Amino acid sequence: MYISINGKIVEDKNSSISPMSEGYMFGYGLFETIKVVNSKMCFLEEHIERLKKSCKKIGLEFNFNIKEIENRAYKILEKNKLNIGAIKIVYSKNGEENYLIITTRKSSYTENNYKVGYKICFSDIRRNPDSILPYIKSVNYMENIIAKKIGNEKGYEEVIFLNTKNKIAEGSVSNIFFIKNDILFTPSIECGILPGITRDKVIDIAKELDVKVNIGEFSKDELLNADEVFITNSLMDIMPISNIDNKLFNIEKNIITCKIMNKYKSLIGG
Ligand code: PLP
Repeated sequence: MYISINGKIVEDKNSSISPMSEGYMFGYGLFETIKVVNSKMCFLEEHIERLKKSCKKIGLEFNFNIKEIENRAYKILEKNKLNIGAIKIVYSKNGEENYLIITTRKSSYTENNYKVGYKICFSDIRRNPDSILPYIKSVNYMENIIAKKIGNEKGYEEVIFLNTKNKIAEGSVSNIFFIKNDILFTPSIECGILPGITRDKVIDIAKELDVKVNIGEFSKDELLNADEVFITNSLMDIMPISNIDNKLFNIEKNIITCKIMNKYKSLIGG
């Protein structure tokens, strides 16, 4: 497999970064995962915009234009012959010349995942809305990884974080939505969540479908009493939830989720 490091294409096994880099040593960097469908990147502009904004937040200079990144990404897609999967862009601090690394990977989500839905549980780890970390896709994902690992070991595919105010925040790699009485609910950014690109698209789709959207602060009980629940991220798109901490949800009755899923599918051309 080939990767792109600062515009140079190299085989991953022959690639290297400096162990002295701040990105490697301290997790001072950011990343984006972008879905690839039919050899095209989905919502590239939105991802680069979030990357730029996040760079500003953490004081990391970012001087690339979108065309330059797009060219590098398409070169790697072509070299690795990937037409469906994901592009990952990592931008991290390394002295005067930062690293912009682009890699590709296949998706691990299966058709069966969407058919049976995901089982999720609550994590004991809390999102802190006063911290900067929930709002950026930092390369320091340790808390997310640990939380997910604990959930996976208990048989759940994803974990949900509450925040320090005991309200629903987000998943370890996803944003969360629920539907009650035909209204779509999702935590506001201020709950301490990543402003997900898929989340924005889902909100727009719901509005187009004349589904009322309520963005705010919600409790664990409100989520558990929902009619339909789903989570989102760029690679998984929209995943129905069939079980939260062993409370079952009959995803065959997911009317609104299905409508949103269908519209989203046609949006990304999948
Ligand atoms: N929240 C977290 C913590 C994530 O890691 C992700 C994606 O990986 C998301 C939300 C969803 O973001 P997006 O839809 O931009 O992929």
